[in-house]
Amino acid sequence: MNFADLGLGPALLSAIERAKYESPYPIQVEAIPAILQGKDMLGLAPTGSGKTAAYILPILQQLLQKEAPRDRSVPVLVLVPTRELAVQVAEVAENFGRFLPRRIKSLAIFGGVSINPQMMKLGGTEILIATPGRLIDLMGRNSVSISRIQTLVIDEADKMLQMGFKEEMDHLFEYIPRKKQTLLFSATMEGEVEELIKKLLQNPVRVQV
Ligand code: AMP
Repeated sequence: MNFADLGLGPALLSAIERAKYESPYPIQVEAIPAILQGKDMLGLAPTGSGKTAAYILPILQQLLQKEAPRDRSVPVLVLVPTRELAVQVAEVAENFGRFLPRRIKSLAIFGGVSINPQMMKLGGTEILIATPGRLIDLMGRNSVSISRIQTLVIDEADKMLQMGFKEEMDHLFEYIPRKKQTLLFSATMEGEVEELIKKLLQNPVRVQV
């Protein structure tokens, strides 16, 4: 199996080649075609499985087929529990997104650091990777809008719930359109993950590695 068999176009394939990924990991083989078809997904996968590229690559391809937004709305939101994961995901997304025919900009926002530099970098962001509290803060300052999200990713959903982000996530979901594609990744089905899945996913494809 190689990346060209998964439905990715030439622009993504050359970005993958540049990143020196030779062949797709199992989660990528399953996830990429389903995400490209617009399906919701439940991914039961730990860190190290290649889950980040499994959702970032098809999302970049979907974005390439559209025009960049001209206002403060972001088309793709990735919710993460920690600053470290936010930075890691943004690196993967930027690493691929910078070399596409139309540059696709990704940005990580997280709490614990001053808000102004993040506010100034938001313009033109198409993939926003955020911890919930800082995102709510930036929305309150009218710096970003999630009212036209096309794809929502919840990464490390179990950890988000463990860390007590349930209320903040529920608050955010009220601003996100009902009609969208949702991808939820979790290492375990512990705690309230099942509830979150029921609330967010419609006929999801289930991928487990
Ligand atoms: P993740 O599980 O998303 O944190 O990814 C784990 C590591 O695997 C990261 O360092 C990725 O850059 C790397 N990786 C992901 N997919 C591939 C692939 N198909 N080939 C080689 N390395 C990969």
